[in-house]
Amino acid sequence: MSGWTCSYQIGSECELLKKKCDPGDKGCVLYGKALFSNPQTPSNEALRRREEMEKRRRGRNYE
Ligand code: SF4
Repeated sequence: MSGWTCSYQIGSECELLKKKCDPGDKGCVLYGKALFSNPQTPSNEALRRREEMEKRRRGRNYE
């Protein structure tokens, strides 16, 4: 059983994006915040870029 439920999900539809719920798709609240097992999910690349930027920013703070 899942411990998280999206407040935008109504049945199989996304009320936010006005289409079928596709967790991790662009515009989804999880986009760039979670890693998905499906490698095609755009969230994975967005998450990798965000982590890369944070790593660079942290590196600059210690120089
Ligand atoms: S696509 Fe994302 S924002 Fe929309 S209902 Fe699904 S999990 Fe929620």
